[in-house]
This record gives sequence, structure tokens and C-alpha cells, in this order.
Amino acid sequence: MTGSRSDRIIQYGQAEGERPIGRSIMRGLACKCPACGEGRLFRAFLKPVDHCATCGEAMFHHRSDDLPPYLVILVLGHVIVGGYMMTDMVYPLPLWLTLSIWAPITVITALLCIQPIKGGVIGLQWAMRMHGFGGHDDNPEDFDHGNGAA
Ligand SMILES: [Zn+2]
Repeated sequence: MTGSRSDRIIQYGQAEGERPIGRSIMRGLACKCPACGEGRLFRAFLKPVDHCATCGEAMFHHRSDDLPPYLVILVLGHVIVGGYMMTDMVYPLPLWLTLSIWAPITVITALLCIQPIKGGVIGLQWAMRMHGFGGHDDNPEDFDHGNGAA
């Protein structure tokens, strides 16, 4: 009885595979495909590949939008401001020297963090089957705010 409906559901479930959130985010943070962990996730600094070169998983429909820069600001805001305040208590410096030290540190660490954090966000969306990662498009009616035919 290999053609029964329950068999197909089991086969589909096995083919679909599990998507552990932690593993997917960690693979994204490493800038690797969240599905296989082997293929590159980015073709340019912040441009993800359309499809994974190793497993073929589609990446073009991710929608990380503003979450990666928000997370960079959230994390670096605490680390940089905390670091500035702690060092300022020990070594109070003139404002021009403080700015010339901490402004470049802020810019460089933000540029270093944004790509892995964007990869982690894409990994999260893939694990949660958001925005087409579940094999179907988002329901347009979810975004219809009364602009359709009355
Ligand atoms: Zn892959």
C-alpha cells in the first residue's frame, strides 16, 4: 500500500525535513545556506544568492528588510556605549579624542556585524517557513487593508 494518502503525507514530511531554528540561525550567522550548511549565502556584501549552489534551496524570496540593521544598532548600541562609558570612567579623554577613537570603532564593528546578522535573520525566516520559504507565497489577503473591491 505505497500509494495511500497517509504514505504520501509521511513521504512529504520526510522530504520536507525538519528546520531547527537554532541550527538555521547559526548557519546563517556563518553566512552559509540554512538548508545544507555548505553553500554560500551571499553573492555580494549584503546580496544573498538566488539559489544555494550546493543544495538548490531558493533564497531570493527572503525579506529581512530592516531587522538586520535594527539588531546591529541594538547590539552595538549596548556594547559601544557601555565600552565608552567604562573607559571614560577610568581614562577621561577630551571630546575630540573620544570621538576619534569610538566613531571608527562603531563604524567598523557595524560593517563587520551586518552581514552575519542578516544571514541569521534569513536563517530564522527559512526555519519559520516565512515569505515563501515554506513552498508557498505569502497570502496577499493578509496585507490587504481594505483597498480591494468594495
Ligand atoms: Zn544549501
